[in-house]
Amino acid sequence: MGHTPLLTDAHRALLATAQTAAAKLEPTQPWTDPQLACHVAGTPFYPYLVPQAFGGALPGVDVRSLCVIREALAYRNAAADSLYAVQGLGSHPVLLGGSDAQKQALLPDVAAGKTLFAFALTEPDAGSDVQALSTRAVKEQDGYRLDGLKRFISNAGIATHYTVFARTGEGTKGISAFVVPGKTKGLSVTKLEMLGEHPIGEVKLENVRVGADALIGAEGAGLKLALGTLDVFRTTVGAAAVGMAQRAQDEALAYAKTRKQFGAPLGELPSVQALLAENAVELDAARLLVHQAALVKDQGQARVTYEAAVAKLFATEAAQRIIDRSLQIHGGNGVVKGSVPERLYRDIRALRIYEGASEVQRLVIARHLLQG
Ligand SMILES: Cc1cc2nc3c(=O)[nH]c(=O)nc-3n(C[C@H](O)[C@H](O)[C@H](O)COP(=O)(O)OP(=O)(O)OC[C@H]3O[C@@H](n4cnc5c(N)ncnc54)[C@H](O)[C@@H]3O)c2cc1C
Repeated sequence: MGHTPLLTDAHRALLATAQTAAAKLEPTQPWTDPQLACHVAGTPFYPYLVPQAFGGALPGVDVRSLCVIREALAYRNAAADSLYAVQGLGSHPVLLGGSDAQKQALLPDVAAGKTLFAFALTEPDAGSDVQALSTRAVKEQDGYRLDGLKRFISNAGIATHYTVFARTGEGTKGISAFVVPGKTKGLSVTKLEMLGEHPIGEVKLENVRVGADALIGAEGAGLKLALGTLDVFRTTVGAAAVGMAQRAQDEALAYAKTRKQFGAPLGELPSVQALLAENAVELDAARLLVHQAALVKDQGQARVTYEAAVAKLFATEAAQRIIDRSLQIHGGNGVVKGSVPERLYRDIRALRIYEGASEVQRLVIARHLLQG
């Protein structure tokens, strides 16, 4: 890892632990390998997703801790990082808005890795425009009936619990959040194959009946819970991008030292040196922006919408450039299927889209500037 002036010694120690644990993962291990989920659940990372009161590692959720864990996981294996992050995304609405009974019932199992959550917000006609969602939750005598289709839901098919956002009314205050167990009758999953390694699919809800205790917080609180959750996890997407970019840079450095052309290592060529230097500058800048956004949140600022947008936008876009330059240094070997540069090149792409595409982050940043 590069410079980390915004981390504490405890974060650096956690990073070392995370790097050691993640080192056992193979870069090409697919998410379909059951060992992968077992490995992530067996590491000491899930407890960082919930507070100590519910079996967590720290008094509260510390965003810099999540960032160093995601950086270490994404450095080794994108699917492991995704599994981990979505466990946090799916369970965080419960932490933010759930009743004490819900928190006690659900969060200790999240920390222990006994359950796996998914976060089901996106729909075929509601992507960047989440307020357009049309999944319905109709109140019945003893609970709710849910109907609708969710798309691009990470952990679909392997999740034990889905946090589903559905309409209980109109407008922004008409969205509510529900915890739906994966085995509930009427919930079905169609897997999707993506460019990168990702457990993901469509989740169909047909006549899905849940009890009143499935509702997280009050009716109508769903959008606030979704945005509050993304406000924490968006920064950590930037951290995952930094992990992938660091891996690419390390691979490129090693290759530039050993691969010889024209009688000398590639690293002696000024054009290759320029690529490595550009990478180093962007990597440092990305990591600092990620840690800055996390630090501001950890210091207690209620919302970090602007800081997280800046960090996510820069880190994911820079990581794409860093990985591309690193692949270029590998020449033909960089595009061989199954090679680490090729794998990173595919894995990084989705990070510029999910949890708010780059264009949407630019809108958020510009709105903040113009309102200020
Ligand atoms: C790998 C992966 C994992 C995902 N995991 C989850 C998950 O677990 N749970 C979940 O709920 N969702 C998940 N998503 C969905 C993700 O959040 C959406 O894909 C994302 O919000 C964009 O929505 P969309 O794909 O419908 O694109 P659209 O919203 O249709 O956007 C298409 C293009 O138009 C641009 N655009 C849209 N609106 C504007 C605007 N106002 N101004 C400028 N440009 C705009 C976008 O930036 C993009 O380039 C995942 C997606 C991917 C790819």
